[in-house]
Amino acid sequence: MFRKPLPNFTIQDTYPVCISYISNAGIKQYMVDMQEHVYTQSEKYLKLISQSKLQELDIPTIFNIPVDTNGRKSQTHENNWFVKLYKYYLSKNEQKYSDANKFYNRIKLDGVINNNSKRCCYCNNHKIEVVDHFLPESKYIFLAVNPINLVPACEECNDNKHAYSPSATEPVLVHPYFDFIDHINWLDVRLVERVEAKDENKYIYSFEYFVKEISESSVSIDRIKKTFEELKINNNITFDAQNFFNTELIYDLRDPEELGGLLDTDLALHFKRKSEKLVTQGYGLNHWKVALYQMLSSYSDLSFFKENPS
Ligand SMILES: [Zn+2]
Repeated sequence: MFRKPLPNFTIQDTYPVCISYISNAGIKQYMVDMQEHVYTQSEKYLKLISQSKLQELDIPTIFNIPVDTNGRKSQTHENNWFVKLYKYYLSKNEQKYSDANKFYNRIKLDGVINNNSKRCCYCNNHKIEVVDHFLPESKYIFLAVNPINLVPACEECNDNKHAYSPSATEPVLVHPYFDFIDHINWLDVRLVERVEAKDENKYIYSFEYFVKEISESSVSIDRIKKTFEELKINNNITFDAQNFFNTELIYDLRDPEELGGLLDTDLALHFKRKSEKLVTQGYGLNHWKVALYQMLSSYSDLSFFKENPS
């Protein structure tokens, strides 16, 4: 999870532009009439998120889509147009919808320009590929084109998050625009096992990432843990960390011309500096590589990582 700058435009910018493209006069008028309800829900969202109570956001009946006797939602009801505004205009990369699409692109790009980070707001690892609805558009249709609910993410996190919606009994996910957790070091990693790679004369190391138990966090640690689990962030970052460790770092550690030539005390210092450098480069305290270097810098004896199977 990584804080992203809140877009400097609001629903009052995106909604009128999107509805201006609707060609059917009756539907357009319906959406104009619904505007105040959409803005009211946006204000409620802002109020509740600042109190970490987003699970209390209601869905007024005016936003219901009627269902038939088989439980299928009506395809023709005007309320379907809230999601269509996103699908047809905001996210559509077409010249004729560029006044709406520019907002979509700015959400994706602002994470790159302003925050020194091209990485996903959830895993802080993969590059930004999509815009994610923090609360799902399928349920909260009035948030479909609201910038406060649109965040830059990678496809894997977007897929894993699926149609998550907050419940009264579980911690709410960390919000990339409103929850500030980058100043606390909450990500940690441990070595799980070392197994011999058959026919390769080497060991393969496996790791596990987890959320540390810390007390001084302004955002409840349960919310960080819930986000970490819900989006399967451990799978995502462990894959890259193990790949880096087993195909790059381990060779440097065994090579006397590289890191293998350093005393353990110097190696620990080397890893400590590596992690600090990544933090100053904008990766933040909670990037998998920062945590990996920190863990390695805590070893007083690194011979375990320099060994070959006998
Ligand atoms: Zn991601």
